[in-house]
Amino acid sequence: MALIVQKYGGTSVSDIDRIFVAVRRIVKAKSAGDQVVVVVSAMAGETDRLIKLAHQASASPGAREMDMLLSTGERVTTALLAIALEAEGVKACSFTGRQVGIQTDGAHTNARIEKITAERLKDALADGIVPVVAGFQGINQNSDVTTLGRGGSDLTAVALAAVLAADRCDIYTDVDGVYTADPNMVPSARKLLKITYEEMLEMASLGAKVLQPRSVLFAMKYQVPVCVRSSFTDDPGTLVTKEDKEMEQEVVSGVACDKNQTKITLVGVPDQPGIASKIFSAIAEESVVIDMIIQNIGQAGLTDLSFTVPKGDAERARKTLSKLKSELGVEAIGLMDNIAKVSIVGVGMRSHSGTAAKMFTTLACEGINIIMISTSEIKISCVVDAKYAELAVRALHEAFELGKTPARAQWAAKRIGKGKIAGRRNKK
Ligand code: ADP
Ligand code: ASP
Ligand code: MG
Repeated sequence: MALIVQKYGGTSVSDIDRIFVAVRRIVKAKSAGDQVVVVVSAMAGETDRLIKLAHQASASPGAREMDMLLSTGERVTTALLAIALEAEGVKACSFTGRQVGIQTDGAHTNARIEKITAERLKDALADGIVPVVAGFQGINQNSDVTTLGRGGSDLTAVALAAVLAADRCDIYTDVDGVYTADPNMVPSARKLLKITYEEMLEMASLGAKVLQPRSVLFAMKYQVPVCVRSSFTDDPGTLVTKEDKEMEQEVVSGVACDKNQTKITLVGVPDQPGIASKIFSAIAEESVVIDMIIQNIGQAGLTDLSFTVPKGDAERARKTLSKLKSELGVEAIGLMDNIAKVSIVGVGMRSHSGTAAKMFTTLACEGINIIMISTSEIKISCVVDAKYAELAVRALHEAFELGKTPARAQWAAKRIGKGKIAGRRNKK
């Protein structure tokens, strides 16, 4: 008997028909003798609808109230799915984040999980009840509702799988796995049979929203085997796991794109020790996450400094910097938000040279100007004009021949077909 956490995303619970498709999958797993813990998102579009309503009520709604509001989306689907399961004769019980003991810090709208007791989950499982947990939420020390950041139901699912030492965490979504690029953007994208936690973390952090980045970090830390699958088919999906010999050692395994960034440029910054520290400390105090940073060579004691932040935080960062402008002696602050960050990712990059050159040449051949560059051991990112984002992704996908199935992947596919890829053993 295996213990599986099944997470259903918004499109997989978007109406009662879809909810019953999920019910049939849960019933099938139960009939096969598995124990199932279900985690659900809000119905597709519901979280965005609630955010819009809040902004109709106020130009800047408070973060605590936003969490109270947004957490309701998941509560609706939790109860509906439990009701549907009961209607099919399956004992089920819905739970909020609080009821399964998900304790977070106090960072409303982007809280971090600190502890999970999961007592009620364990009791429900012991009684043969299918627990249906509301994703994306927990409570802080004052028992106020918190949410875990957009896409946070993935994190709830992986965290519960870790705490319960589940054999696998299945993420049911509207695509049948992790592809070499967003299949909705690149029709020739190829589905990966397996991907390492590291690569998945880079892909997710760089804009592949199929998994929330923090959920991948959690899975990597606690070695939770995660399977990304379609709720519309029975395809085995993509296994996110640690690196092994069977895995494709491609130089580049995927292309990702993030249009949710704004570039902030400070013009005429005094080229002195301590200035960068002042600028970035002030922004950090506002809890704004900085991504890429570029400082140009100084001339006549002045330099230009550019960096990117998430679009939603750009105005807050600009206001903070405006207050410091005269103290720092900065001449001007500029914002550019028609940008996209296009990235290539691959563990094989560690041991290959020439990948950056190939990326830049590909973009140059398409006449795409590179605005910023950043690299890590296993990724290269370029900021380009947003209007070239799709073109850049498709050109890179083609240049690195990601649509072709490498020989190694064909061999791994045969092994998967023979049932050689297993989840980890149940530790209970
Ligand atoms: P859910 O609502 O189920 O959580 P999401 O919309 O968060 O689903 O994530 C699924 C989407 O992720 C897909 O529809 C797809 O457009 C997008 N996506 C982006 N990059 C990739 C990729 N490399 N592989 C698969 N899907 C991707
Ligand atoms: N409903 C939340 C969102 O739309 C969380 C999730 O779907 O994972 O971001
Ligand atoms: Mg999602």
